[in-house]
Amino acid sequence: MHLDVQDSPAITAEVDRLLARRTRDIRLTGEIYRLFRARVWSQTAKIIRAWMVWVALLDVLTLALNMVMLPRATALSMLLPGAIIPPVAVAVVLIWRKPRAPWLQGASLIAGLFLILLSVALVGVSASGEFYERHLNIMLFVAITAIIIFGVPLAWTVTIAALALGLYLVFQLHNPGIEFGSAVAATLFFTSGIFATVAARRIMTILAQKTFLFELRDRRRVAELAEANDRLKLLARTDPLTGIANRRWMTETLDRLWDGGRKCPGGAAMLMCDIDDFKKLNDHLGHAQGDRCLVEVARMIQENVRRDRDQVARYGGEEFLVLLPGVDEEGAVAVAERIRQSVEAAAFPNPASRVSRSVTLSIGVAVQTTDEAISPEQLQSHADAALYLAKQSGRNRVLLHGSASFGRKHVQPAR
Ligand code: GH3
Ligand code: MG
Ligand code: MG
Repeated sequence: MHLDVQDSPAITAEVDRLLARRTRDIRLTGEIYRLFRARVWSQTAKIIRAWMVWVALLDVLTLALNMVMLPRATALSMLLPGAIIPPVAVAVVLIWRKPRAPWLQGASLIAGLFLILLSVALVGVSASGEFYERHLNIMLFVAITAIIIFGVPLAWTVTIAALALGLYLVFQLHNPGIEFGSAVAATLFFTSGIFATVAARRIMTILAQKTFLFELRDRRRVAELAEANDRLKLLARTDPLTGIANRRWMTETLDRLWDGGRKCPGGAAMLMCDIDDFKKLNDHLGHAQGDRCLVEVARMIQENVRRDRDQVARYGGEEFLVLLPGVDEEGAVAVAERIRQSVEAAAFPNPASRVSRSVTLSIGVAVQTTDEAISPEQLQSHADAALYLAKQSGRNRVLLHGSASFGRKHVQPAR
């Protein structure tokens, strides 16, 4: 099935328009009709093939039984016209084994049925006597089963019905056993029966089409729901101001990466970044300018990490947590220093800051090596402790937790 076609706005609108109608007014046309035919083809074809096989088997069986039960001359006279059915049925089965051009499908089905109906009638004609009319009735019965169970376009159904009635009328008119009037009367009688059958077939087709429309609508609604769900999930994990991940997302990531909460296999580093004297920026330049600063800092942090592996989240008001899986102390400090320098170089104004005239960052770094077992919470509290000391020792600096002189030895920013 062509999902993209089915989901096109034109098809969607058409499905809604058709389903708003009364059931009996449903008419599939154009692309949607093509989709319906493609959807039901294999089942329709299977029914047609099975019907052909059964008719051929019944034909062979009846001819064989006739040889046993009927006088030899009568049975032999039935053999030749009866022999038409099996090859015709096989030909139709072969053509209907796979989808072919609609004209070929229609032509093969209609021609095949015509020959089969003709064969049944001719068996009666050849045997004559009581068999003549009996076989004409059998022929109509055969036609009715086909009309009812073949889910084909209405035009084909009507053609089959007309052919059956035409054959009936022609052979009845030539029936030496009945008068002209009786032949016409019998044909009219069966016409009403066949008409009812065609009407029933039409209703079944309309119901099948309605089911198909519901199917398309359901499929679309499920897809819309899934999409809305994905959007909601993303929203729930995104910080609306900066557009980067939020704390929830970071927590999920940590849960995913930490092996049973024990350790991150391959090690990991955490950077806890906090804007220096951000409150002063808000106080002096306004909240809107503070917001712009947050967006800028988030962008700069992201630009300095590996997009494919590292995770940056806005953790609190002006705090950002960076997770660097598989990174050692040296690497982590280098990344942190790069971030710090970028923010400093951006010279985003913070005139009242105690550190500088522009925005600066303090960063606490903590690392879990491959052979250590540290929970994410522990690692984070280490990064927090390092950040606290970075603030204590003057801000605008990177400080590594657990370094030999923790609290003194930090990467001194270039001022
Ligand atoms: P320090 O150098 O010690 O980190 O000082 P600070 O002023 O940055 O820290 P403090 O925690 O005192 O202030 C953080 C400020 O961040 C307070 C709050 O108004 C501001 N803030 C938190 N969220 C937002 C936000 O979404 N937008 C803006 N504009 N400001 C925010
Ligand atoms: Mg803070
Ligand atoms: Mg701060």
